[in-house]
Amino acid sequence: MSATAPDPVLAIDIGGTSLRLALISAEGDTIGDITRHDVRFAADGCADPGAMLGLMAPHVEAAQMRAQSELRIGISLCGNVDLLSGDAILVPNLGWRNVPFGRLVSEHFQAPVCVATDVRQAALAEAIWGAGRGVRNFAWATVGTGYGGYLFLNGRLYGGAHGFAGNFGHMTLDERKGFPCGCGRRGCFETFVAGPALARAGQAAHDAGDSAILASLAEDGIISTRAVFRAIELGDAAATQIVNDAIRLICINLGGMVNTLDIDLIVMGGGVTEAAPWFVERVNADIRAYLMTVEAQSNLRVLRESMPNAALWGAAAHVFAVEGVFPRDLLEEGLDHRVIGVE
Ligand SMILES: [Zn+2]
Repeated sequence: MSATAPDPVLAIDIGGTSLRLALISAEGDTIGDITRHDVRFAADGCADPGAMLGLMAPHVEAAQMRAQSELRIGISLCGNVDLLSGDAILVPNLGWRNVPFGRLVSEHFQAPVCVATDVRQAALAEAIWGAGRGVRNFAWATVGTGYGGYLFLNGRLYGGAHGFAGNFGHMTLDERKGFPCGCGRRGCFETFVAGPALARAGQAAHDAGDSAILASLAEDGIISTRAVFRAIELGDAAATQIVNDAIRLICINLGGMVNTLDIDLIVMGGGVTEAAPWFVERVNADIRAYLMTVEAQSNLRVLRESMPNAALWGAAAHVFAVEGVFPRDLLEEGLDHRVIGVE
C-alpha cells in the first residue's frame, strides 16, 4: 500500500447468531484474520448491546494501536437500520427495536462509525469488489434465517422512499395458507423458502413418518435446516422435494423481480445458499422458466457471493465510500451520507 492509501477499516458484521470482525483495506483485502464470536442473549431473549461492545473492545483497541490515523468502524446489522442516524430500527433476530447502536459504538470507542443493514452492505461490496463491479443494475439476495436483499439500480444503491427497498422476501405468496412472518404479517415468500421454513417442512415430513433418513438425522426429535440438506446428500426423496419446492418459489419471486426491473445480475449469499454447492446453480438454471424476455433468458446471471462474507466487506466499503475513497454516487441518492462521529 502506498503512503497515501487510506488506513484499513475495522469491519463488523452482526448476525442473529454471530459477530464477525476483520480489518479490511480499500483494496478489499483483510489484514489479519476474520474473528468470530457468538452473539450473547440475555434472559429476555434480546442481545445486550453492552455485551456486544465488550466483545468488540479488544479488537477495536488492537486496531487503534496499529492505525496510522483515527480508526474508523463499519458495521453491518441483520435488520432495518436508519442510514443517517445509524439507529437499529427493527432487528428481530437480536430483539432490538430503536436501539441507537451506531451512536453507542461511536461514543463508547470515540470513533467514527457507519452502520447499515447487512443486505445493503453486501450489495455495496459486490458493486465495489465483486461480481457487481461495472454492472449498472443488479440485486443482492440472501437466503438464510430470512430471505430478502437489496437493489443496485442505474449505477447506485437503491433505497427507495424510506431506505426499505429490496424486501422481495416479504412479497406475500399466500396469506391464507402461509405461516406468520418475522415482519408481523403472514404468508410472505420468506415463510416458505428461508432456512426455518425448510427445517419446519423437514420436521413435518419426519413427524409424518415419511423419511427414515430424516429420522436418522433428527437430534432429540428436531430436524434442522442442515439435516434437510444432509438428507438430500443421502438420497432422501422428502428432503429433495422440500428444497425443490423452495427453489421453485425463489425462482418465481426473483424472476418476477427481473421482469419488473430488467436487472441482469443477481448475487446470492446466506446460509441456505452455502448449505449445498449446487443451490445457486439450480436457481440460475430454473429461473429461466419465469423470465419474460429472451434477453433476460439469455443474459441474466445468478451467481454466488464473490467474497467469504460480502456483508462484512460491505461494512468497510460503506466507510470508504462515505469518505470518497470510492465514488459517493455509488450510494443511495438524496441522502446526506455521513459517518456517525465524535465532534
Ligand atoms: Zn414478511
